[in-house]
Amino acid sequence: MRTFDFQHARDVDDALSIAAAGATYFAGGTNLLDLMKLGVTEPVALVDIGRLGLDQITATDSGGIMIGAGVTNSAVANHRLVRTQYPVLSQAILSGATTQLRNMATAGGNLMQRTRCPYFMDVSFPACNKRRPGSGCGALEGSNREHALFGASASCVAVHPSDMAVALAILDAVVHVQAPTGPRSVALSEFFQLPGDDPSRDNALGAGDLIVGIELPTSEYAYHSWYLKVRDRHSYAFALVSVAAGLTIDDGIITSAAIALGGVAAKPWRVSAAEAALIGRPADTGTFSAAAELAMSGAATLSQNEFKVDLGKHSVVRALHRASTRR
Ligand code: SF4
Repeated sequence: MRTFDFQHARDVDDALSIAAAGATYFAGGTNLLDLMKLGVTEPVALVDIGRLGLDQITATDSGGIMIGAGVTNSAVANHRLVRTQYPVLSQAILSGATTQLRNMATAGGNLMQRTRCPYFMDVSFPACNKRRPGSGCGALEGSNREHALFGASASCVAVHPSDMAVALAILDAVVHVQAPTGPRSVALSEFFQLPGDDPSRDNALGAGDLIVGIELPTSEYAYHSWYLKVRDRHSYAFALVSVAAGLTIDDGIITSAAIALGGVAAKPWRVSAAEAALIGRPADTGTFSAAAELAMSGAATLSQNEFKVDLGKHSVVRALHRASTRR
């Protein structure tokens, strides 16, 4: 690892000022330090944003909650309001990483984590457009079993690794950002970027932008929701496919629905056609199977990941079943 400068920021303005001089934001460090050790990224300076007072979860005037960017993943998952009003978020977070990592990783950092594509993580591979723009994509003709089915490009077929973000996608989260030019907010649906011609960019943040919070509006899905994660081993593994599902059900009939897929795209993948197909239908296997077909329609498979289409269909059906029977 290369040597680097390290400073503690006193407050948000101080952090922005230090970042403007070239420093990279450092929160829990659970992904950034790995990338630095591997030589994937080599910042000349880090600014610690752990003392900015962004470590609280508060109720908002509109009935939702604001999760400070510095709240640890463990604290989010175990918070009373999250467990009772947004259980799918708690479930998604607890499905990821390990207890030790969740105790260090922060909500903001969770959104900022980078793909675990092996060609990105291993600098001995010459071709990775995300790590070395213009160098090609090793996964396109190489090992791509875990890669994208939706929204990919000829430049990159990587997926985003966050479980938390998939749950946030069905909760219509809004990311609050302090930019050098002032505060702004970005809907989670607009936060992550598909690769297009420039996969080096993962999200809508500009230079020096700092995530300060994640706001959740009141949720319809406090009762009927589920996060299902399918992976190669039961713990400490990223999703091959995951599904966040939320339903409202009145007298056995579905009245609203939200479904997001993880492990299949560079962003949490909302499947609006499948959601629409659920409305007004009975909450049963036939309805769920029809929605699952729609959810996976349009999947563009690579040489090694065709299995994820059937896996996705089964996962959607199972997640909807679990959501419909959860109270
Ligand atoms: Fe790099 Fe993306 Fe290709 Fe992976 S899929 S090798 S991250 S360009």
